Amino acid sequence: MRLLVVEDDPDLNRQLTSALSDAGYVVDRAFDGEEGLFLGDTEPYDAVILDIGLPKMDGISVLEAWRRNGRVMPVLMLTARDRWSDKVQGFDAGADDYVAKPFHLEEVLARLRALLRRSAGHARSEFECGPVRLDTRNGRVTVNGNPVKLTSHEYRLLAYLMHHNGRVVSRTELVEHLYDQDFDRDSNTIEVFVGRIRKKLGVDIIQTVRGLGYMLAPPGG
Ligand code: CA
Repeated sequence: MRLLVVEDDPDLNRQLTSALSDAGYVVDRAFDGEEGLFLGDTEPYDAVILDIGLPKMDGISVLEAWRRNGRVMPVLMLTARDRWSDKVQGFDAGADDYVAKPFHLEEVLARLRALLRRSAGHARSEFECGPVRLDTRNGRVTVNGNPVKLTSHEYRLLAYLMHHNGRVVSRTELVEHLYDQDFDRDSNTIEVFVGRIRKKLGVDIIQTVRGLGYMLAPPGG
């Protein structure tokens, strides 16, 4: 899952970015409204954390512009404490949720997980396909109840497929959602990761759809 953090406070931006990276997300960052607007308009983010008070362009205007331009990714707003008018404006502009400053990083992470699974049409934080289960709360993957150790790249890839279970996901889509802007976007890498995941899981739930991409299906299904 690829996220965008738009926050002008350098310390807060860094704290958020490192907590999100530790949690297995790929994170791009912006420090003012114009940069944030541009990135959100041009890159396919799975969710955005957007501060309201930003230089050059405020968060509400950024969000309104995204929604006008048809950008539908979930947006978590950061609001000043006790500014109820910020929250109302934020929701009216198209925000999906908010966290008031100062916040606990754990709360931001939990709200993001909820936004990501709701936007993928899931009500629970645990995903399964055949004997494979993936729990987004703790990053655990099991096969028939036995834990499987995946690297962060492998976990991200499997988690993305789990969130989009039921449809074909192309290699390009995976590259766009699993790596940040600076990554060398060679889609062959994806094939290598898929191979490793299949081997570690020991059951084949990732089907290759020739010429199109990958799709999850229970073994023998
Ligand atoms: Ca700010």
